[in-house]
Amino acid sequence: MSYLEDAFGLQGKVAVITGGGVLGSSMAKALASAGVKVAVLDLFEDKAMVLADEVTKNGGVCKGYACNVLEKETLEKVREAVISEFGHIDILINGAGGNMPGATIGPDQTVFDMDLGDFKKVMDLNLVGSVLPSMVFGEHMAKRGKGCVINMSSMTAQQAVTRVFGYSVSKAGIDNFTKWLSTEFALKFGEGLRVNAIAPGFFIGEQNRRLLTNEDGSLTDRGNTIINQTPMKRFGEIDELNGTLLWLVSDAAKFVTGIVVPVDGGFSAFSGV
Ligand code: NAD
Repeated sequence: MSYLEDAFGLQGKVAVITGGGVLGSSMAKALASAGVKVAVLDLFEDKAMVLADEVTKNGGVCKGYACNVLEKETLEKVREAVISEFGHIDILINGAGGNMPGATIGPDQTVFDMDLGDFKKVMDLNLVGSVLPSMVFGEHMAKRGKGCVINMSSMTAQQAVTRVFGYSVSKAGIDNFTKWLSTEFALKFGEGLRVNAIAPGFFIGEQNRRLLTNEDGSLTDRGNTIINQTPMKRFGEIDELNGTLLWLVSDAAKFVTGIVVPVDGGFSAFSGV
């Protein structure tokens, strides 16, 4: 076996990805290309199935499952279904997440206008929606003494990014949760269990397109502010997260746990001066 295959090889591993959205799709394709068998879990069954079909047609092994990451019993049923399909689970990617309009402060609003109901929904989806799958799939990993979890953080977790209040607080929770669970797993179940996170910089997607670009494609003031704060002077491409993912889930990272890796064109490194 070559050094690269030995260190980075993922052939035959099994990954569960929650959320078959922009990021989940890209990650499912990257993992399948590396020989990983993938289970995609999404609230919307058709979304999971369409993605699984696409990956399968391209020569990968992928199955879709309807699953709400906020329902423990459903997660447990899906865990058993994935184990009976693929034998075991090596990797969990907590990719289900998002934002709610009321948890974001509008241009003419202040924090006092924030909708607490939406704030709680965002906390649930991003934070509880990562904690619960980590418990359900982590239990299986703990029994095997090996496995790894990848959480999705954000540039909003460690610095204040105006307007996205609820989302930022939930992602700050993800950073601590990543450290906390990595410690718990390693101390109580051994070094075979690892937990890390990826913090994407700014990528234009459906969620933020209207915030960052005008209808004619030019940048909004907010879009310009972000680019000015990004030393590489561009937004990211979603596939640019996959190199970090493939490294973190491979044996090449077997002494790496509890970290949040920024993939951000330098945004988090730059003081702005
Ligand atoms: P997305 O909206 O494209 O996909 C999220 C998926 O999660 C959707 O398919 C949705 O149906 C699913 N989902 C929602 N609620 C669910 C639930 N209760 N149970 C199961 N599935 C559910 O989002 P994305 O851009 O792929 O982002 C994925 C994660 O990465 C999120 O946590 C997001 O905050 C984070 N992130 C994304 C970016 C980005 O630029 N795309 C940047 C930073 C962080």
